[in-house]
Amino acid sequence: MPPRPPRILHTRLLFFAAGLTLCPRLVLVHPAARGDAGLLAHEMVHVAQMRRDGTLRFLWRYLMSRRHRLAYEVEAYRVSVRHAPHGLTQFARALSRSYWLRIGEPEALALLAHALPVRAAEAEQAPGSAGTQA
Ligand SMILES: [Zn+2]
Repeated sequence: MPPRPPRILHTRLLFFAAGLTLCPRLVLVHPAARGDAGLLAHEMVHVAQMRRDGTLRFLWRYLMSRRHRLAYEVEAYRVSVRHAPHGLTQFARALSRSYWLRIGEPEALALLAHALPVRAAEAEQAPGSAGTQA
């Protein structure tokens, strides 16, 4: 039997983010982001990560390890990018600025560009583009 989907709770108490996965059974979404399918898909990745790794292990790694937090968020933001490829730059900015990851926007862009459809990814990876990494 597949696991039950989480309850989605819309609350203005979530003032610092559009969405937050508290545990595999509860996802918080700010009312302003209600109906944002890409955001929900991003949070569902965190739900799956918690089920895969265990909620406590996920939370410990997420909070204590920059390397793990980066891996978790890149996996989730790649799903965000697949939902809204035009948002790539915005997602890369959020990834580089909002998670204490100590990565720049170009690095974030390169990490997320892999999620783009092939043609768009080639454009992002063209020499001289912002997505190119040394
Ligand atoms: Zn996330």
